Order: sequence, then structure tokens, then C-alpha cells
Amino acid sequence: MAPQDLAEAALSGLRQRLTGEVIVPDNTGYDEARTIFNGMIDRRPAVIAQCESGADVAHAIRFSRDHDLDIAVRGGGHSVAGMAVNDGGLVIDLRRMHGVSVDPEAQTADIGGGATIGQLDRATQPYALATTGGRASTTGLGGFTLSGGSGWLERRFGLACDNLIAADVVTADGGSVHTSADEYPDLFWALHGGGGNFGVVTSFTLRVYPLPVFSMALLLFLPEDGPEAARAFRDFAQSAPDSIGGGLIYLTGPPEPFVPEDLVGRLVCGVLITCTGSEAELRQLAAPLIGLPHEGEVIAELPYADLQCMLDDPPGLRNYWSAEYLSGFPDEAVDTYCALAQTMPVPTASQHIMFPLGGAVARGPDIPDGLDEYPLPWRTSPWAVHPFGVWESPSDDDPARRWVRDVRTRMQPWSAGSTYLNFIGHEGQERVVASFGERNYRRLAAIKAVYDPENVFRLNHNIQPAAS
Ligand code: FAD
Repeated sequence: MAPQDLAEAALSGLRQRLTGEVIVPDNTGYDEARTIFNGMIDRRPAVIAQCESGADVAHAIRFSRDHDLDIAVRGGGHSVAGMAVNDGGLVIDLRRMHGVSVDPEAQTADIGGGATIGQLDRATQPYALATTGGRASTTGLGGFTLSGGSGWLERRFGLACDNLIAADVVTADGGSVHTSADEYPDLFWALHGGGGNFGVVTSFTLRVYPLPVFSMALLLFLPEDGPEAARAFRDFAQSAPDSIGGGLIYLTGPPEPFVPEDLVGRLVCGVLITCTGSEAELRQLAAPLIGLPHEGEVIAELPYADLQCMLDDPPGLRNYWSAEYLSGFPDEAVDTYCALAQTMPVPTASQHIMFPLGGAVARGPDIPDGLDEYPLPWRTSPWAVHPFGVWESPSDDDPARRWVRDVRTRMQPWSAGSTYLNFIGHEGQERVVASFGERNYRRLAAIKAVYDPENVFRLNHNIQPAAS
């Protein structure tokens, strides 16, 4: 809808109902409000409702439906496919709903639907508590958790959604539902991976865990030594305890003190090891890796929340990603993965990541009585490859995207057939179905038909409502 078609009277009605702000194209702040993390996305919604409560969200949903406006829901705005913003529709912007309240006795946190991972980490850190968050502090907890939620702590504490205990949801008809294992269990199950398909989550309750000490090591290798480092990391990770996380990361050497000058701006192979224990424990467990000849290193004990911010990319760069979950990482796959790094456009902010799953991810959580396993079949894959194309100039769009697609194609021989939707853009409906598995997809579609029969929430990796 063109913005001028929305009658001023209707907009002022919405403004009166909302405690938050309503922004339209000629308002100051419109451009900031419509900008998301991925600089490739440039969309112009007709209305942005900056909601402050579940009631605001309900008003915004009803307004959209009354005025036939498509809805986009914005959490942290980090979906690489740009699912937080639309053209000509209404954006429900949750960023003002970012409060986090920690109950250290119960070891739970109540988190606003628009909070970021960093806001959660900073709130839990003073209690020496943490839970699995993404690998960047600026990512929205909403989109992250609802599609699974993978991070450095996952082998110890499981995926983020495994720790979801309850949620407040505003559904497509503007109604409010509090869901948990005992209340609306079908909806609760669907929120463990099904993304934003079932409603707007205005509050999450997550389980948090004691994490009194945390450490990390980043070892840098020359790209030609990558295959040896990768094999060593693979063998280490496959038998490591749950306290260990990390990954192999080819990247452009950053101008940091631990990076030798001649590697700054050049392709380097990084081995990142995280440990939910002390530096001494990390050094002991990772001795075979630390003992390999390498070019630079940083090994330190640090607050987990600090590591989370260290890898933050600035917003506004151009992003195109994919991911393939693998059934194994044999020598031939290692060589292919490392050879593909040599074709990564450098220097850019792109990264070529391979990380181990296993541990609590593979085992899965204790599923509450009456529920089935959550719809994330990729969790049993031992490895995932995640080509992460990030660059600055539109003139690099084609080579950067080509490289990402090429990685996906060339790693196919080891694919387990499934992927994690938060790590990909739009790759077609078949990929969406494969990410859940067909049986789970049918069940999610049946639940979607109950809570969102008209597919109001469709700007996402969409689950289409089952026909009645
Ligand atoms: P948005 O773009 O705001 O939303 C994404 C989708 O979720 C949309 O469909 C939106 O409608 C829906 N949504 C968001 N919040 C809500 C809500 N409260 N209720 C209902 N629907 C909602 N993922 C990982 O698992 N691990 C990582 O380590 C990781 N690292 C990342 C690093 C960077 C730099 C970036 C950009 C992304 C990373 N991601 C990671 C991917 C990230 O989890 C997804 O992009 C996720 O969708 C982001 O959530 P968001 O709320 O910021 O996104």
C-alpha cells in the first residue's frame, strides 16, 4: 500500500491506542527505523509501530488486518533475508521491549521479545549465569531462539530453544496466549524451531545456568597449513567434553595485536576454542592444538559476555549466507572445505566457518511429558559448514554470492540433507521443509492452521497453514 492511501484519521487512531510510537515515511527517524543489519535490504514500509507492550502488538496486528497491510515482525533485525521489514506494509518493531529480569534462585530469565543477545548476556553476567546465545551480541533473541538458537555454549547447555520454558504470544487474531509445556503444548512445541510463524512472542522465559568461569583460545594458521589444523581440530572436537565449543574460521586477518603484521588483510585460518572452564583447563584439553606450529594466538579467561561482543560486525555491510549440515567431516571434506577458503573473496568481512555440534545439542533436552522431540532434525549432524558472505561494495555482490553458493554445492557430498534456517536466506520452500523434516513440517502446518489460519505471519521461513 502507498503510504498516502492510509488515512490520517486511521493513523491517529493507531497513535492514540499505542503507548509506543508510530512512524510513517515523512516522520523524522523513518530511515533509522526501517534500516536493518543487512545493508542489501532497502525496504520502505508504510507504517512502523514501535511497540512497548503486548497490548501495543495486538493493536498493531488488528490495525494491519483492518487496513489490509502485510505484517513484518522485527526483533533484532538480523535476519539475513531481511524478514524484519517489508515494502508498503506494517512493521511491528519490538526493540523497545528489551527488558530482562533474572531470577537467580530459579535460574530463569524473563526476556522482552525485542531484546538482543547482548542485553540478555549483560543481565545474567552479574549473577555468573548464562545460557546459549548467538555468536554476536547484536542479534535479536527473538528470531534467534524461535528458529533454534546455536552458539558457543550449545554443546554444554543445548540450543537456545531447548531452554525455552514459557512464552507470551500475541496471535494472528490479536489474542494473547501464555504457553508452556502444560499450556497450549502444541504451540509451545512449535515455538521450538518453527520461527515467527505462530505469533509475536512478547516475552520469553529461558533457563539459565551457572557459568562462573569461561575461557577461549584463538590460534591463527597460514592458509596453507589450514588442512593440518582442520584435521587436528576435527579429531579434537569429536572427542572433546561438552565444556568445549568453537570452530574453524577462515577470515581476513584483522588489525589486532595478536595478528602478525604480514597476515593483516590476508586470508588466515583460525581455530577458535571456547571452554566453559578455566584457562588452565582449556590449555590442558586443547594441548594438541596449541602445540601445533601457528602464527598468532590469544588465549585468555574472560567474561563470556565479553567474548560475545568481540566478534560483532558493524551493521550496514552486505550479507549473503548459506549453511549445510553434514553427516561427517572426513579427510576429503576437510580438503574441499579448505580449498574453498582459498576462493573466498578477500579482503572482506566474509568468513568460512565449520563448527562441531554434538554434546547437548545432539542429545537433545529432556522433552516434557506429552511432547515429541522438537522439530530440528539437523541437531544430530556432527558438523555444519557456514559460508558467511559479508562485503561492502555492491560491485562485489556477484562474486560474493557465487562463492557462498559454490561452497554449498561443493560440500553437498557430505550433506545430511538438512539445514538450520537462521543461517540461510531464501533458498526455496523445499529447504524449509527439509530443515524440519516432512513429518514435523506437516505437524507444524497443522498447528499453524490453528493459530494463524490466514498466514498473517508469512514474512519468515514460511510454514503454510494446512488445509482444513
Ligand atoms: P529479525 O530479522 O528481527 O527477525 C527474524 C525473524 O524472526 C522474522 O521472521 C521475525 O518476524 C521473527 N521474529 C523476531 N523476533 C520475534 C518475536 N519476538 N516473535 C515472533 N517472531 C519474531 N544465529 C544463530 O543461531 N547463531 C549464531 O551464532 C548467529 N550469529 C549471527 C551473527 C550475525 C552477525 C547475524 C546477522 C545473525 C546471526 N545469527 C545467528 C542468525 C540469527 O539467529 C537470525 O538472523 C535471527 O533470525 C535473528 O533474529 P532477529 O530477531 O535479530 O531477526
